[in-house]
Amino acid sequence: MTSSLPDNWQSWLVNTLAARDRDGLRRAPASIDSMQATRVQRDGQWLANFCSNDYLGLAAEPALQDALIDAVRRVGVGAGSASLVCGHHREHAALSEELADWLGVEAVLLFGNGYLANLGVLTGLAGRGDAIVQDRLNHASLIDGAMASGAKHLRYAHADASAAEQRFASLPESISKRVLVSDGVFSMDGDIAPVADLVVVAKRQQALFILDEAHAFGVIGSEGRGSVSHATLANDAVPLRIGTLGKAFGVYGAFAAGPRVLIDALQQLARPAIYTTALPPALAAVTRVALKHVRNDQWRRDQLQANIAQFRTGALAQGWRLMSSETAIQPILIGDTASANALSAELLARGFWVSSIRPPTVPVGSARLRVTLSSAHSSEAIAGLLNALAELTPRFLSNQN
Ligand SMILES: *Cc1c(COP(=O)(O)O)cnc(C)c1O
Repeated sequence: MTSSLPDNWQSWLVNTLAARDRDGLRRAPASIDSMQATRVQRDGQWLANFCSNDYLGLAAEPALQDALIDAVRRVGVGAGSASLVCGHHREHAALSEELADWLGVEAVLLFGNGYLANLGVLTGLAGRGDAIVQDRLNHASLIDGAMASGAKHLRYAHADASAAEQRFASLPESISKRVLVSDGVFSMDGDIAPVADLVVVAKRQQALFILDEAHAFGVIGSEGRGSVSHATLANDAVPLRIGTLGKAFGVYGAFAAGPRVLIDALQQLARPAIYTTALPPALAAVTRVALKHVRNDQWRRDQLQANIAQFRTGALAQGWRLMSSETAIQPILIGDTASANALSAELLARGFWVSSIRPPTVPVGSARLRVTLSSAHSSEAIAGLLNALAELTPRFLSNQN
């Protein structure tokens, strides 16, 4: 096939992809044929799925399937326009109120997804002349949001509140609008941010503290209220919290939660919430049902914790290097990209889907298998994964250290 691309673009694109191939970093999505659940069919092969963020097993929950079908019959498929034009449905309003009630905050603003929420919040609240200080290991969307904002952007050593404070101390006094941002649970490590210490730093520095609870909401805290509740802090200890609805909620979308004045301002300032079509109202409706499960189904969190314990105990006994995580994200640290890819491939051949996470998503030399657990995993499935890992210890554990 001949290309209509200009020659210089053709060669740049080909070279860019070739470099990814050479480094084992080329990515492409695998298509699944089944529901998103703890067993999925991929290219005709059934696999035990240990890489989704469906921590509470809600993505395939029959009650949610029924709720979505009912909602589509009532409210149709698409929102039709942006929320500030004519796309805001009563279901969106009800979901926002119920999320605010759950978190004990005054108001919530919905976003298309978590990436947009982080982009919108940081570009809406900070700009040239302001400063954003954030954890080195924060999610890519927070890094991108900070860069897009044009604010001075400083990163501090992972989970180190005193390093955060030093960053603030290095800023000129003239910078009065300061933002502190952290993941609540870190997406590639699974550890929990030192939220109580960061609250103190933010207060001392007069900084607005924003917490991204993508992997915390639903998973930790009372009624799944995330890392603030987990740290036994008051609901308003962190002024702005971001949640995604595509992980523990099992659906799609995201929201920012906080005091009314802040949410009202975001409605005016967060361009990725303004110049975009509203979430399908049926998704808002089904998310209201998902929220009931998140709040009330403590048994799902209990089962998830039991599954985490089963995996950690087994993997540590075999000598694998796990990270200090008490959440659903349980990475096996490997180091070099080629070994992580090879381990992922060996597990796949044995019927277990665990994705290998490599640079640039994680720092060079810290490639890992990102095992994620769900309340929906059976103990047999976890035992199966541990058996497969046991077969692979001779080859992969001698490589370490
Ligand atoms: C997944 C994730 C996001 C993005 O959320 P989406 O709804 O998937 O776009 C943002 N922050 C963190 C920490 C995440 O893990």
